[in-house]
Amino acid sequence: KLYNEVQDLKGNIRVYCRIRPFLPGQSEKHTAIEYIGESGELVVANSSKQGKDSHRLFQFNKVFGPAATQEEVFVDTQPLIRSVLDGFNVCIFAYGQSGSGKTYTMSGPNLSSREDWGVNYRALHDLFHLSQSRRSSFTYEVGVQMVEIYNEQVRDLLCTDSSQKRYPFFRVFKVAFFLVLMKVYIIRSVLTVHVRGTDLKTNAVLHGSLHLVDLAGSERVNRSEATGDRLREAQHINKSLSALGDVIFALAQKSSHVPFRNSKLTQVLQSSLGGQAKTLMFVQLNPDVESYSETISTLKFAERVS
Ligand code: ADP
Ligand code: MG
Repeated sequence: KLYNEVQDLKGNIRVYCRIRPFLPGQSEKHTAIEYIGESGELVVANSSKQGKDSHRLFQFNKVFGPAATQEEVFVDTQPLIRSVLDGFNVCIFAYGQSGSGKTYTMSGPNLSSREDWGVNYRALHDLFHLSQSRRSSFTYEVGVQMVEIYNEQVRDLLCTDSSQKRYPFFRVFKVAFFLVLMKVYIIRSVLTVHVRGTDLKTNAVLHGSLHLVDLAGSERVNRSEATGDRLREAQHINKSLSALGDVIFALAQKSSHVPFRNSKLTQVLQSSLGGQAKTLMFVQLNPDVESYSETISTLKFAERVS
């Protein structure tokens, strides 16, 4: 049995939208969310303005409203994650402005409560757990790598010796250790889970990988305000996000040239984008009408790649 139940979705790129709830103390605010359909429709409107053309419809594979739980989100992500055990390369990332819930979706707000666990803890837990129980004649090993990309520099967070490129394989009992490490390095790092399956009958080996990315905020930085290091950082972030958008756009168009080399982010993710790889983007939205213009630019990014 293959863990590949999501193949019916068109192409290898799917886009889920998640709208975070208003936070405590925000209840007076107006929402930009007009309608969420059962089949992935989303209508947003700038309710502070008059006029017809302020309503806009967007289509996703799925939309999670403000009441969606971490568990509900994971249930729809799990088949993709498990396809790693069949040798697929999978990339899951969250895109959206700061404060829209990217970290909440990918990691969760609180590691100590299991219910709050986001996609990456649940994915690790699930893969470690499944790899422990042997599937038919396969035995699995799971390894974790974490890199940080800052100003187009890639740093391996788990490997202190920079001369060594290391893809460690660890057994299931190390999972607690990684959960602690992930907590330490949670900000803007790319987490990669490598799975190596060996068929004990034939000695055939398969490799699958899962990239989990909590991207930097997508908001446009006001060029006149940011200076020095902050401006440089913002420029690198804009560059890597637009390079990622270009890569996914090229893949969605089935273009023969995919511009992976334009940023460190897309280079790091290359194996899990394109070809037989499967990509899932969480488009994160802040419901507040005050964020309307950022919401529209996030939705336009998503529209371009889906
Ligand atoms: P980002 O990583 O995009 O900057 P965060 O994930 O830090 O945003 O979310 C911003 C705030 O909103 C945090 O306080 C977070 O706990 C809260 N939040 C985000 N998504 C949800 C959600 N689905 N349910 C409840 N609170 C959420
Ligand atoms: Mg964050």
